[in-house]
Amino acid sequence: MTTIVLVRGDITRQSADAIVNAANSSLLGGGGVDGAIHRRGGPAILADCRALRASHYGKGLPTGQAVATTAGELDARWVIHTVGPRFLPEEDRSELLASCYRESLRVADELGARSVAFPAVSAGIYGWPMDDAARIAVETVRAVETAVEEVRFVLFDERAYEAFAARLR
Ligand code: ADP
Repeated sequence: MTTIVLVRGDITRQSADAIVNAANSSLLGGGGVDGAIHRRGGPAILADCRALRASHYGKGLPTGQAVATTAGELDARWVIHTVGPRFLPEEDRSELLASCYRESLRVADELGARSVAFPAVSAGIYGWPMDDAARIAVETVRAVETAVEEVRFVLFDERAYEAFAARLR
């Protein structure tokens, strides 16, 4: 049984076993959550990301997939990087966004993580409307079979928090 918890705050301050990064396919850092995780987590995360680029992901991590690295100096043990789809009004890319949550939880299961914190993947720089991002996140996590005991959505602002709270009600 997975419990879903909502928190308003900064995901880099969370002490879950794993925190999920809304990364871009390069895995080499960016803005938003990604920038915050690398800043606070220190250089060990980027070193792992570079090693992944040099081995399995020469062309980058494909959209909808997930991969883990160390969490460096963060309280979490692992960072699970996933690449959300950019929102395109003319194309339904919801399945790719759902895949980010499923694949991140699959990786979490492989690691043996019991608690996982997610940001609102794709709902920042990638432009996904918050209500729909929240719907996909909550519906997908509810449907996944996982040994993860707690999924925590960490929402950065009130609007995001309210969108997720409305979906959980
Ligand atoms: P994407 O490129 O997938 O859209 P972003 O990092 O731009 O990813 O934004 C995803 C969501 O995370 C947005 O709602 C943004 O406000 C939020 N966010 C940004 N920084 C943090 C943080 N430190 N902790 C939690 N959420 C954050």
